[in-house]
Amino acid sequence: MRPDLLRLGLAIIVSTTAGLLAGQVFLCLAAGLCAYLLWHFHVLKNLGRFARNSHEQNPPDLSGVVNEIGREIGFLRARHRRSEEKLAGVLSRFEEATEALPDAVVVLDLEGRIEWANKKALEYLSITYPRDSGQRFSNLVRHPELTDYLARNGNGDAAESLIISAPANADLSLEIRVFRHAGASQLLAARDITDIQLANRMRKDFIANASHELRTPLTVISGYLESFEGDADECPPSWRPQLRQMRDQADRMGSLIEDLLMLSRLENETSQDADGEVRVAALLAEAQNEAQTLSGRKRHNFFLDADPALALKGNQDNLHSAFSNIVVNAAQYTPPAGEIRITWRRLDQGACLEVADSGEGIPQEHINRVTERFYRVDKGRSREKGGTGLGLAIVKHVMAQHDAELKISSAPGQGATVTCLFPESRVVSLSASQSDSASP
Ligand code: ADP
Repeated sequence: MRPDLLRLGLAIIVSTTAGLLAGQVFLCLAAGLCAYLLWHFHVLKNLGRFARNSHEQNPPDLSGVVNEIGREIGFLRARHRRSEEKLAGVLSRFEEATEALPDAVVVLDLEGRIEWANKKALEYLSITYPRDSGQRFSNLVRHPELTDYLARNGNGDAAESLIISAPANADLSLEIRVFRHAGASQLLAARDITDIQLANRMRKDFIANASHELRTPLTVISGYLESFEGDADECPPSWRPQLRQMRDQADRMGSLIEDLLMLSRLENETSQDADGEVRVAALLAEAQNEAQTLSGRKRHNFFLDADPALALKGNQDNLHSAFSNIVVNAAQYTPPAGEIRITWRRLDQGACLEVADSGEGIPQEHINRVTERFYRVDKGRSREKGGTGLGLAIVKHVMAQHDAELKISSAPGQGATVTCLFPESRVVSLSASQSDSASP
């Protein structure tokens, strides 16, 4: 400030003195002040040029308060450059990390336009960054299933992933997931799961082939056992218990093979394979008859309350198998004279099947695992009852195929309740005449 005042004072003194000498005080003073203003204007112009030119590090040699402003601008500029460099370092480390990822990563804005992609995105999805930046993802990757998936999960954070063949290479299987990211973007991640899919296919094929191959020799063995039993008089009496045991074991093996084949068939079916119209009340009556036959002398009390006007869009055979597994289990794990209640009713949204028994129940720690293949609470008891350990695994698959939720609840000693909740989209309401023909 001081140099500026000194300079102004000097300009006034010099021009006034010159004015006194020339006898034109006001004229010389005005000319002096104009010259001072012009010089100031020149200094401000230099400051403006320095402010506009962001590459210039140091301010030009200015004077007074303008010099201070120039130095302040230079200081802020240096600070800004340092934080820019720091940010660029962080960004390049992030880019290096995402390039090292074995997954393809694409950042999309909420309109589905590409903001950023790593190198793997080229290999899996044919997307190149920065060339494709700003383009719509669905215009570049023409894959209807993937487009649908992105449209369904437009707000990010999809609960389930999508498995597709890679748009850029049909030999690769990709697992796609989409996440909400930084509030206004979506992060699409694609993982190569070709090896996992191959191993799964090999496992499924192996089980299906092995079960299929075992069927023929077992039929032959069962046939011979049957004829031995038919000619029981010709067999030594001491052989009879062994023959009965062989027959029981052959039957058990037969059930195992059928259940394994059913499971591998279910794994290969999609939910589109389940859209016929199924009269559930009639199926439940059949399942009850089967269970009643099996329960034999145990004389269980069955109660069936099924709405005949309520049908399902689904696969008749698979639903029959699932329902009879649930009802037969209830009979198998309920002591003589126990109760088995079967209800099939409409809900506000959808429909519900409930099978409740008064049997031994399932201890809490086992409930989450009983739908796993070969999982039994008590292996010995299940075998003794002729169980394969696959019944509830089949039920779980059939329910998933019908978009239904399977719930199992139980308190030890108070029986078990198996509930299947079908969504509204699967429910069909029959007219009075249709339901008359459907009722058991
Ligand atoms: P399993 O052929 O052994 O019955 P499942 O898959 O049908 O095989 O059932 C798995 C296990 O769940 C059974 O071994 C049994 O321990 C238990 N379980 C299933 N249903 C019931 C039920 N209603 N009451 C008690 N336990 C049950």
